[in-house]
Amino acid sequence: MKEMEIIEILKKEYPWVKGTALNYSNPLELLIATMLSAQTTDDRVNTVTKDLFKKYRNAGDYANANLGELQNDIKSVNFYRNKAKHIIECCKIIVNEYEGKVPDSMEELIKLPGVSRKTANVVLSNAFKKDEGIVVDTHVMRLSQRIGLTKEKKREKIEEDLMKKFPKKYWFDLANLLIIHGRKVCKARNPMCEKCVLKNICEYYKNKGY
Ligand code: SF4
Repeated sequence: MKEMEIIEILKKEYPWVKGTALNYSNPLELLIATMLSAQTTDDRVNTVTKDLFKKYRNAGDYANANLGELQNDIKSVNFYRNKAKHIIECCKIIVNEYEGKVPDSMEELIKLPGVSRKTANVVLSNAFKKDEGIVVDTHVMRLSQRIGLTKEKKREKIEEDLMKKFPKKYWFDLANLLIIHGRKVCKARNPMCEKCVLKNICEYYKNKGY
């Protein structure tokens, strides 16, 4: 079965992949890092959060932050102005409604300002070890389409297809493995198909007639 082959092949290729490449030591840090990571590389986010997490230690620190100061603290990430606004609004709710603790359900997380389903999936699967869905970022979208796991274009539809195709116990690994393979081999502009361990089962490769 193609789905299981993908997991097996990629696990063998990237045995060291255990989760997100974002640095964090608690659910709040992961939530903030993931919010910062939209349209920004994980490396850049990790550089920013190194100091950010020393300055802001809990949800209250972000909730009471001065907007201009927080914007300045994160200004090297894309869309930092909006991200700072969302972080403050989000942490105000976490303080007022959840006693300063990040909620651990999809339903609650996606109600927070600036928290997408993708962000919620990252937090739930990595920090809370809960698989309510599959992280579908730009790499997972692209690879799922190219390999032939989905014909859908929208993130949520792609996630639905993947959730139907893969048993739940593989959801976490699947996302992390596709992300790393997308970064290293199946790049957006120039996929390195000849070197790719998935080429024998990939639709894109087959259709290109290599
Ligand atoms: S064969 Fe090419 S398109 Fe298919 S997964 Fe590998 S790099 Fe991506």
